[in-house]
Amino acid sequence: MSSTQGKPPENILIVGGGSAGWMCASVFLNTMGKAGSRITLIESPNIPSIGVGEGTTPLFKRFLNFVGISEEELIRHCKASYKLGIKFPGWTNSEEFPSYFHPFTSPGLTQFEDDFFSYCDRRRQRENLNTDPGDFFFNAALASLSKAPLGPPPCDAGKLEYAYHFDTALVADYLKQRCIDLGINYVSADVSEVVQNDQGDLSHVLTESGEKLTADFFVDCTGFRKLLIGKTLDEKILPYKPRLFNDSACVIRTAVSEDVEFPPYTESTALKCGWAWRIPIGSKISWGYVHSSDYTSKEDAEQELRSLIGEDAEGIDALYIKLETGRLAQHWKRNCVAIGLSQGFIEPLEATALALTQFSINRFATHFTRGGYSDAHRDFYNDIINEAFDRTIDYIQMHYKLNTREDSQYWIDCRENDNITDTMRAIINGWDSGGDFIEVLKEQVHRSSYAPYSWYCIMAGMGRFPENARQPTVRQTQHPYHELAIQHHDHYQYLQNVSAS
Ligand SMILES: Cc1cc2nc3c(=O)[nH]c(=O)nc-3n(C[C@H](O)[C@H](O)[C@H](O)COP(=O)(O)OP(=O)(O)OC[C@H]3O[C@@H](n4cnc5c(N)ncnc54)[C@H](O)[C@@H]3O)c2cc1C
Repeated sequence: MSSTQGKPPENILIVGGGSAGWMCASVFLNTMGKAGSRITLIESPNIPSIGVGEGTTPLFKRFLNFVGISEEELIRHCKASYKLGIKFPGWTNSEEFPSYFHPFTSPGLTQFEDDFFSYCDRRRQRENLNTDPGDFFFNAALASLSKAPLGPPPCDAGKLEYAYHFDTALVADYLKQRCIDLGINYVSADVSEVVQNDQGDLSHVLTESGEKLTADFFVDCTGFRKLLIGKTLDEKILPYKPRLFNDSACVIRTAVSEDVEFPPYTESTALKCGWAWRIPIGSKISWGYVHSSDYTSKEDAEQELRSLIGEDAEGIDALYIKLETGRLAQHWKRNCVAIGLSQGFIEPLEATALALTQFSINRFATHFTRGGYSDAHRDFYNDIINEAFDRTIDYIQMHYKLNTREDSQYWIDCRENDNITDTMRAIINGWDSGGDFIEVLKEQVHRSSYAPYSWYCIMAGMGRFPENARQPTVRQTQHPYHELAIQHHDHYQYLQNVSAS
C-alpha cells in the first residue's frame, strides 16, 4: 500500500510556475486551500516557462468563472482575443475542398446542425448538396465577418461557446500575482534535488541555496523536464510519435499593423511537412510551424514558415522548440501528481494542452476535496486522464489520416500510417459505408471530448465523399445566421475598446 492511503494532505508543494503551475495553484487555493491545506509554489527564477501555446478551448471560460477572473481582465492583462474555432486551409489537394472551418458550437444556436448532418449523409449517398461546415454554424458566421461573440441585444454571448487566444506567459504572470495576493506561499528558487523517504514517496525538495521544503503531497509542473514524476519517480512517457510524426516547432511573432487581419479564429495551414498556426494576440501575430524533423531540416522548416508569413517576418528571429509528444501511464504516482507538459503533450493542432491540464486539475481537486485519497481513487484518476488523452489524440490523428496531399512523402506517410486505433478505423469505415454515421459515433465516441458535429465537420471538411458526389455549383449567397451575426461587435475594434477602458 502506498502513502496515498489516508487523510488529505496538509501541505501541498507545487514545483514549477508556468501556466500549468499557476492554473493549478489558482484552483487549489479555491478548493483544497479553502478546506485547510497549505499551498506552496516554488518556481525557478532562471528556467523560463515554455511561453507558447496561445490557443484554448471553451473550457478555459469555465476556469475563469471558477477562479473569478472576468473576460475584460483577461483581455487587458493577457492580450486575449476571441477564438470561435479553427480554419484548416490546405489539408487536401482538391480544389473543391481548399479549406474548412471547425467551429465551437453554441447550444441554443444549432438550428441548422441537423441540416448539416442530413446533407452530409445524403451526399455520402451521392446527392448533390452543400456540405461546407462553415455554412451551418453560428460561430462560423461570426468568424467569416470577423465579429466578436459579443454585441448589443439581441446578441447574447451567454448562449455562445467560444474560447480565447492569449499570451501564455502573461496569463501565468497574471495568475501568479493573483495567487500571491490571495496568500499562496511563494518561493522563487531552483530545485536542485528531490528527495524520497525510505518507502519511496517524495519527502522534500532542496533548493540551490540549501533550503529544504517538505510537503505531504507534490505537484510536478516542471514542464518537459518532469523533475519529480520522471527524473525522481522514474515514470516514463509512452510516445505518440508512431501515430503523430511531428516533433518540432519553429515559432515567429510578427507585429500587427493597420492592414493585418485580426480574425477571431486560429488558422492552421498545412505546409510541406506539417502545419503552421496563425494566432492573433494583442499587438502581435503568433506563427508556428509544427513539423517532423524526420522529413525536413530546421533550416528548411524556417524558410517555409518565412515564405508563408512574407515580408512581416523579415529581421525577426525564429524560436525552435523540440516537442516531446506522449503521455505518462501514471499521472498520479505515490504522493505526486504531474500536471501540464510534465504529464504529457499532444501536438497543438486542436489546442488541447491547456484543456487537458485544466481537466486534470479539476479531477484531482475533486478527489481531494471529497476526501478521495486512496489507491483506488488514484487508479481511477489515472484511468480517466489516460482516456482523456487517448480520445483526444484520435481526433487529432484523423486530420492526418484523411489528408489527400501528394506533395511530400510526409503527407503520404501520414495517410498510409496504419498505426491507428480501432475507434478511428470504425469511424472511417462507418462514414465510408454510407450507413448510419450517428449510430457509429454513439458507439465509438460516447466519451470523446469531440461531439458528433466535430466528426462530421472533419469528414465533410476534408471532402471524404464518393468521387462523383459533387458539391452544387450554386451555393447559398448568405449565411443563414448572417442577420444576427452582423449585429455583433467588430472583433478587433471591441478588443481595442476594452483594452483602452
Ligand atoms: C509549440 C507548442 C505549441 C503549443 N500550443 C498550445 C496551444 O495552442 N494551446 C494549448 O492549450 N497549449 C499549447 N501548448 C502547451 C502549452 O504551452 C503548455 O501546456 C502550457 O504552457 C503549460 O506549460 P507548463 O506550465 O506545463 O510548462 P512550462 O511552461 O515549461 O513551465 C515549467 C515551469 O517549471 C519551472 N521549473 C523547471 N525546472 C525547475 C526547477 N529545477 N526548479 C524550479 N522550477 C523549475 C520553470 O521555471 C517553469 O516555471 C503548446 C506547447 C508547445 C511546445
